[in-house]
Amino acid sequence: IGALRWHFLLQSLEDLQKNLCQLGSCLLVAQGEYEAVLRDQVQRWEITRVTLDAETEPFYKEMEANIRRLGAELGFEVLSLLGHSLYDTNRILDLNGGSPPLTYKRFLHILSLLGDPEVPVRNLTAEDFQRCRIPDSGLAESYRVPLPGDLKIPPQNPSPWRGGETEGLQRLEQHLTDQGWVANFTKPRTIPNSLLPSTTGLSPYFSMGCLSVRTFFYRLSNIYAQAKHHSLPPVSLQGQLLWREFFYTVASATPNFTKMAGNPICLQIGWYEDAERLHKWKTAQTGFPWIDAIMTQLRQEGWIHHLARHAVACFLTRGDLWISWEEGMKVFEELLLDADYSINAGNWMWLSASAFFHQYTRIFCPVRFGRRTDPEGQYIRKYLPMLKNFPSKYIYEPWTASEEEQKQAGCIIGRDYPFPMVNHKEASDHNLQLMKQVREEQHR
Ligand code: FAD
Repeated sequence: IGALRWHFLLQSLEDLQKNLCQLGSCLLVAQGEYEAVLRDQVQRWEITRVTLDAETEPFYKEMEANIRRLGAELGFEVLSLLGHSLYDTNRILDLNGGSPPLTYKRFLHILSLLGDPEVPVRNLTAEDFQRCRIPDSGLAESYRVPLPGDLKIPPQNPSPWRGGETEGLQRLEQHLTDQGWVANFTKPRTIPNSLLPSTTGLSPYFSMGCLSVRTFFYRLSNIYAQAKHHSLPPVSLQGQLLWREFFYTVASATPNFTKMAGNPICLQIGWYEDAERLHKWKTAQTGFPWIDAIMTQLRQEGWIHHLARHAVACFLTRGDLWISWEEGMKVFEELLLDADYSINAGNWMWLSASAFFHQYTRIFCPVRFGRRTDPEGQYIRKYLPMLKNFPSKYIYEPWTASEEEQKQAGCIIGRDYPFPMVNHKEASDHNLQLMKQVREEQHR
């Protein structure tokens, strides 16, 4: 977990603390290894009930089992509630015969049998909060929200994204006021290189638990009910939430979901191991401005558009570098504000054509892809300022400008910005052959 996500988490906790204060309650943050913390706090506060979010991720499943064991030992009740996903993924799997394979189409069919997701868990009332015991201010100080310095992360936060429920709700309201936009939302038509997000930008808030996916789901249903026409899954906004649910469902029943080895749904591929090339990709030095601008936005801000994720993921894996999707997933896990066990791995398998998606002959061009929606290259000029004076015709391939033109732009390729690290045409043709071979062999 990188510094940006830490900042986002601390801001979210600050916001929660402020909102609870307004209800006459407070937030106590206890730090440490969870089992030791629970042993200590349960005694100190005479705790009789521990509640937690039911999760599908292996780490949290194990944590829940351990907390239940501790509850039996120390005498507290454990209440595990479904809040992070729309549905209980076990119910979906039961209707699928107990396990994957599961296609999105079949998944939607199963959801139609289940009906709408359960409404959110009962909202707490002011009365619930009044029953809370609030420690005196001296004691509360030792349970305060940590500061960046306490966690040894840099105090400055360069990201424009602010964590917290207040911010998440504001963003939600802003988008939902434009009901036409909501009803007509078509994911593939949104723009990856707009200077402000062209999609909702709610993922960091869902991921950190600042905003409920069910709130979003029901607000969308209300808008759809009033609209004459609205888009449908997989491209609609509700369809996006269902993709999230789809990956949770498949991940919850797939061993080694975040790995290639031992993962029954993942194509086994002999990816190259090349630390130097991986480093160039990670640190925005591929020499392809479209790819490097995206990786810069990711590093500086912690969020990039879905199609931008497509571009860099395809480039790293089956498109140009033939490096394992697991490596890319780890970089995303460190840098994304919305980093998520199931969604991240699921999409990386998708983009590398290792699972879910099999039209592997479609490879994105790192020059033409971005140019389609931003021919002037404003996005590149923002994130790669050393290229900002190049005329638009060179902005996606500055190495094709003459020496004189490079001088005029104040940027010499090979000195101020790298040459492309691969010849895209040659690399992608070669990789396409490799992918064909792998598939034929494994089919046999
Ligand atoms: P919107 O288009 O506004 O969609 C609304 C919500 O639907 C999102 O907030 C998100 O919760 C969900 N959603 C949208 N697209 C997807 C999708 N393809 N799969 C699952 N859920 C989706 N998303 C994450 O939340 N965490 C990740 O770690 C993550 N890693 C990704 C890695 C790769 C290689 C790719 C290609 C995509 C990844 N995504 C991830 C999915 C997607 O790119 C983001 O959810 C989306 O871009 C977030 O922006 P938004 O909130 O504006 O999305």
